[in-house]
Amino acid sequence: MVDPSTIKIMLLDDDIFMLKLLSLMLENLAFTSVTVHDNGHDALKQVDDIKTRPDLILLDLNMPEMDGIEFVRYLVERDYTGSLILVSGEDERMLQVTEKLVRAHKITMLGYLHKPVKPDALKKLLNKWSPPAQQNIQQTKKAYSREELSAAIINKELVNYYQPKVAVNTGEVIGVETLVRWHHPIDGLVTPDQFIGLAETHGLINDLTRLVLTGALQQASIWQQSGLALRVAINVSMDNLASLDFQDLVVDLAARAGVPPQKVVLEVTESQLMGDSRVPLEVLARLRLKRFHLSIDDFGTGHSSLAQLRDIPFDELKIDQGFVHSAWSNETLRAMYDTSLSLARQLDIEVVVAEGVEDLNDWNFLRQTGCDLAQGNFISRPMLAVNFFDWLLTWQKRIQDKQVPIDD
Ligand code: C2E
Ligand code: CA
Ligand code: CA
Repeated sequence: MVDPSTIKIMLLDDDIFMLKLLSLMLENLAFTSVTVHDNGHDALKQVDDIKTRPDLILLDLNMPEMDGIEFVRYLVERDYTGSLILVSGEDERMLQVTEKLVRAHKITMLGYLHKPVKPDALKKLLNKWSPPAQQNIQQTKKAYSREELSAAIINKELVNYYQPKVAVNTGEVIGVETLVRWHHPIDGLVTPDQFIGLAETHGLINDLTRLVLTGALQQASIWQQSGLALRVAINVSMDNLASLDFQDLVVDLAARAGVPPQKVVLEVTESQLMGDSRVPLEVLARLRLKRFHLSIDDFGTGHSSLAQLRDIPFDELKIDQGFVHSAWSNETLRAMYDTSLSLARQLDIEVVVAEGVEDLNDWNFLRQTGCDLAQGNFISRPMLAVNFFDWLLTWQKRIQDKQVPIDD
């Protein structure tokens, strides 16, 4: 049995009274290493310091500046290996959806508590706490320095992988999403969650995006010349959109590669769009005017402001993978999925993509619900461009052999 006083607990809630109340309850249960914060920024500072990093966080969902869902995203970026309990006045369904989301991010969820919090319910969840598994610790990702990443960009150790987006009714390959990886000389294949955040905080994201975009456009041009008119998507960070130069860069690179704007998709994450800065919106609007396609990524994970969705005419909406895989068997996920899909239709967004299609059940579910495009490991994992044609043949064979059902 773990000594409760050794477990570092952090409380995050904008309601000071709630913080006092929870601290008292915890103290009564002998949990005495408790810190409290009334805003996400201060809480993250504590998480960032390895000496003060909490083992367990009790997190309020509804907070004015940084809400709980956004906070979870930052925890994921920081490879937080502790546990989480959600505390909220939101209704059961909202809590369930959020719980699902947290689990999808592979953070250990002990459960959720409704406000007003009852001591018994709190005690029950605390009993579930255990130190992070050994395996987790080993998997803890390495933190890279700015210099290492900067050198990797210059030495072109960052390599584009491509994941297909296919039409659900015909199986036709419509496009690919570019997903960058780091071919690290010692550590091997390093995934973007280990360096995109770093690139953003250290001012390297413009160099990184330029490299990814240049490679993706060259590849698009090669595919085009071999008769494959694929739409090529790249992920754009909010920091890329902070300067009006970005649109010139995109226009210029596309023109040089000879790829028409209609074949270039810029994926922007929904939660990042919530800030009220005007420059990113202007950059997006101008790119759209030039006929580049705009996609809203990870839809459902932030509290989207509908106004923004209306302001920028998005061509594509991507339903977050947390709401796609297993939606066929889970009512709550299904509700989130349906809502996203019908919202996209109401806003006249042309293409809806479901991400995280992992198996045949997921695929058949999309067919029933009339989603346009599917992306996920069931279709293909992200791959190097050299493997694309081989994959395409296998995919066509799977369809022919009826392993992947399509409309007649
Ligand atoms: P994302 O844009 O949401 O990309 C989808 C992620 O889901 C990818 O992770 C992909 O490998 C993974 N995925 C695909 N199919 C499945 C599936 O069936 N099941 C599951 N569980 N996962 C699946 P990846 O490649 O690790 O990328 C993570 C995130 O990093 C991306 O999320 C994107 O936000 C960011 N990212 C990747 N490349 C770039 C880039 O060039 N620039 C920027 N700014 N961000 C990038
Ligand atoms: Ca994306
Ligand atoms: Ca996504």
